[in-house]
Amino acid sequence: MTEMRELAGILSLPRLKLAAAALRATLDATLDLALPRLCAACREPVAGAGLCPACWSKLSFIRRPYCERLGVPFTYDPGPGILSLEAIADPPAYHRARAAVRFDEISRALVHSLKYGDRLDLAPMMGRWIAHAGRELLAEADALIPVPLHWRRLWGRRFNQSAMLAAAVSAETGVPVIDAALKRVKATVQQVGLSRTERAANVQGAFKVPSDGKAAVAGRRVILVDDVLTSGATVEGCARSLLRAGAANVDVLVFARVAEAARTSI
Ligand SMILES: [Zn+2]
Repeated sequence: MTEMRELAGILSLPRLKLAAAALRATLDATLDLALPRLCAACREPVAGAGLCPACWSKLSFIRRPYCERLGVPFTYDPGPGILSLEAIADPPAYHRARAAVRFDEISRALVHSLKYGDRLDLAPMMGRWIAHAGRELLAEADALIPVPLHWRRLWGRRFNQSAMLAAAVSAETGVPVIDAALKRVKATVQQVGLSRTERAANVQGAFKVPSDGKAAVAGRRVILVDDVLTSGATVEGCARSLLRAGAANVDVLVFARVAEAARTSI
């Protein structure tokens, strides 16, 4: 994994093609070492991808129609460019958010396998799905920024699952990752079980662009990458910090999002 982190660290525009190819090779090698593979959700042996056909068929990919701002799916098609009531009433600091799948039983199993089960072999597949969901955002982006872990949690878990996903999206698309541009300066408590207001308070002041990270962010169009979007408080905190540091645009790409159907004004 050290190699992968080094590769992620040296991703810069001139060396990009080479680094992306090397990263892909490392990810493929990780995949081969993980044999025999088991379905990440039900633990049945599988050939190839990380899910068996039964679990695969239960995955809920997010497609249009959705709110162009928040990426939350509509239950019916209100027409092109329509925003959800939520996006109009309480617009986020970030510009647009997209997610590959809904957060449900199957996607939760994938996220947990990557995060706690050391199923790093799942990252390339999850990265491909994220890259597909965010293709319009990625086409306009200068860099990817993974949502950082506090160093204490990083130390406990050994890797940041958001950085793994960002590296996989980068390998897929060639958009470089900038790693040290955003820091989690406050060790926040787990967001699970907190209300929306509590979540916002929990991440207040938690993220910071260090002075040596400002040059990498100023004037650039960046995409925050995370595994799951729940209330949006974490990416909101990150986006505010990046915009304060002079980022030209901040979009959000996640693997899975909690998605109650969005409402419209029509
Ligand atoms: Zn399965």
